[in-house]
Amino acid sequence: MRRWNGWGDDSITYAINADALSFLQARIGQGTPPKDAELVQVCKQVPDSRLPAHSLIDTDAMGRVKHSLGQSLPDWLKMRFGKISHFPDGVAYPESTADVRDLLDYARQHGITLIPYGGGTSVVGHLAVTESVQPILSVDMSRMSQLLNLDKEAQLATFGAGVFGPDLEAQLRAHGYTLGHFPQSFEYSTLGGWVVTRSSGQQSLRYGRIEQLLAGARVETPAGRLDIKTFPASAAGPDLREILLGSEGRMGILTEVTVRITPLPACEEFHAVFFPDWDVAQTAVRAISQTRPGLSMLRLSNATETLTSLTLAGHKKLIGLLESYLRLRACDEGKCVMLIGASGEKSQVRHAIKLALKITSQYKGVHVGKAMGDKWKQGRFRNVYLRNSAWQQGYAIDTVETACDWPRVKTMMLSMEQAGRDAMAIENELVHTYTHLSHLYGQGASVYSTFVYRLTGDYEHDYARWRRLKSAVSAAIVANGGTISHQHGVGSDHAPYLEAEKGSLGVSSMRHLFKHFDPQGIMNPGKLLPAEDVVQ
Ligand SMILES: Cc1cc2nc3c(=O)[nH]c(=O)nc-3n(C[C@H](O)[C@H](O)[C@H](O)COP(=O)(O)OP(=O)(O)OC[C@H]3O[C@@H](n4cnc5c(N)ncnc54)[C@H](O)[C@@H]3O)c2cc1C
Repeated sequence: MRRWNGWGDDSITYAINADALSFLQARIGQGTPPKDAELVQVCKQVPDSRLPAHSLIDTDAMGRVKHSLGQSLPDWLKMRFGKISHFPDGVAYPESTADVRDLLDYARQHGITLIPYGGGTSVVGHLAVTESVQPILSVDMSRMSQLLNLDKEAQLATFGAGVFGPDLEAQLRAHGYTLGHFPQSFEYSTLGGWVVTRSSGQQSLRYGRIEQLLAGARVETPAGRLDIKTFPASAAGPDLREILLGSEGRMGILTEVTVRITPLPACEEFHAVFFPDWDVAQTAVRAISQTRPGLSMLRLSNATETLTSLTLAGHKKLIGLLESYLRLRACDEGKCVMLIGASGEKSQVRHAIKLALKITSQYKGVHVGKAMGDKWKQGRFRNVYLRNSAWQQGYAIDTVETACDWPRVKTMMLSMEQAGRDAMAIENELVHTYTHLSHLYGQGASVYSTFVYRLTGDYEHDYARWRRLKSAVSAAIVANGGTISHQHGVGSDHAPYLEAEKGSLGVSSMRHLFKHFDPQGIMNPGKLLPAEDVVQ
């Protein structure tokens, strides 16, 4: 069963090995595991529902608790400490576009706020329920998950927007196709959620981000239905898909999505290459991105992330042998690991890997074969479970990400990490922080930093720590010319930084656009746009 207050299936654990735990303790001190609230106790805090009865709506307390938050660190703090201050008044489970229309009409008639709910994996407060005089209804899309149409000639597939990643891939695989969209949250996130948060998958180099995969859509908005038709390309004015992408539930409810699909690859390979230090590694991955050899994945870890991954991997003896070999090849203390992947026909894969390795060899890269890449592929949706085991040892793990142009990448990485350390130094606390470049482009890269620090066991104190670190790192991103999000979206946590990026005219044009689709302001208010979001 899915964990209500953590990540994933409760039958799956990813224990931290003893060496990794000692490593963490040596870096930031021993953690003290906080005591978790019980679900039954939290359910007792749920007030009576204010919703008028409706056949599609369930008002039981447990469902309302489970739909009150996402997966951000402050969401975890609220769930784990039993400090959820507001709950939706009910959860609707539509099964068709007609059901969604019915719910929108009901909400307009009774002045009810709607929060569309995909897989609940948001990490930036998209789903947060705030105090409201209007009743709040969570609209869970999980029953709208069917493959509705498959056009093999045009390589297009239409799905219900609530389909989860594994189900979507299984339905396509039965016909010999893939979407190729694999965010780390793949197991629990949905197609609709990906579209409205502008998600990016781990193999986006081959398949594209969700904005390249989205071909068409059906959206039920309070003002009516918007059908976005599919064309291979169009010069007919602004592209309406761009309004939907990143709309974060503000515009309406996405019910059907048509995506561009690809035949399943005949072959897939992942390789690892080590570099002696960050500077040479960054230059090498930039050269690869700008040469475009046809890879599906390219990822570069900095020295601390490389060390952390090797420690977490266990297999001390094998890693020891690898490190001795790398030392002989001048990759020692500051070494950085790069993972590359290629998918497609065997000849395409061979060509892409060969070309990438030719470039790395010009930058002192040491190719160590496929074993580490294969391991990464096996564990790519399992590593997330470390958040649960770290918590049980008294540690919080948070991530902050951005994207910027190549000349800013290194300064961005150093500034984000330093901002996180400084934010905790005020309390004489240490942060274990590390970074990777997860998505690389000719122009620049996404910079993705992880921060591990100790929990205090006191909700207010831990919340204040998170707020201070998040604010400091977000401010560093803005100051260094990065976007406030490369892939997680805006939600409520990033909304205060949106104007710095879009400008006041940009933000007001978005307000007016959403007001057009949602004149009463009932769609997920308070998210995406900064707080004062009523258009007169
Ligand atoms: C451990 C972890 C790893 C992650 N890794 C990645 C990653 O690699 N790449 C990445 O891009 N993101 C990642 N994320 C972030 C998250 O998974 C994405 O933002 C994802 O797209 C959210 O999808 P969801 O279905 O869970 O949406 P939810 O979290 O349920 O909702 C997110 C927003 O979308 C709206 N929404 C959802 N469905 C609809 C709909 N049908 N119509 C209208 N609005 C809707 C909601 O109202 C909300 O505003 C990660 C998150 C976690 C917890």
